[in-house]
Amino acid sequence: MVRKLMVDSSICTGCQYCEIICSLHHSKAGEVNPKKARIKIVSDILHGKDKPVVCRQCQQPVCLAACKFKAIYIDTKLGIALVDTARCTGCGTCVESCPFGAMFFDPVENVALKCDLCGGEPQCVRFCRTFPHTGYPALAYVEPRQWATRKQGTVRPGEPYHDTD
Ligand code: SF4
Repeated sequence: MVRKLMVDSSICTGCQYCEIICSLHHSKAGEVNPKKARIKIVSDILHGKDKPVVCRQCQQPVCLAACKFKAIYIDTKLGIALVDTARCTGCGTCVESCPFGAMFFDPVENVALKCDLCGGEPQCVRFCRTFPHTGYPALAYVEPRQWATRKQGTVRPGEPYHDTD
């Protein structure tokens, strides 16, 4: 069963630790720069909560179809769309096309930024700081079935689940 990076915005504290870890993990120079993260914490002022926004790994990625430079491709190992930075021109079309606002942009390197699941072990999930307070993290890399179970309130603390909206 394919696992997905799931989000429970109801328990996200907005600490932005996921952004820090993401930028550090993807930086060759060991730089911490949340502006270069592939996951973003968006404040929902109306509802008074913070919401992690990250790629949902669509089966038919709109970003891939939108890129006329063929800089987005499907990785055969992970089965997800990735950005080929050597081909990316920084035009930003993919960022504008994402229906979930989950495609980002590196303003320094001038390339699109997309979650690559850290090669299969998402570091944002590993370091999500909500875990000590709630018994489970706001981020999880799980099968959607596990998330559904959690959302029905039947998952014990410590078991993963997820919510994207
Ligand atoms: S920013 Fe890069 S990946 Fe995105 S559409 Fe333009 S060339 Fe393609």
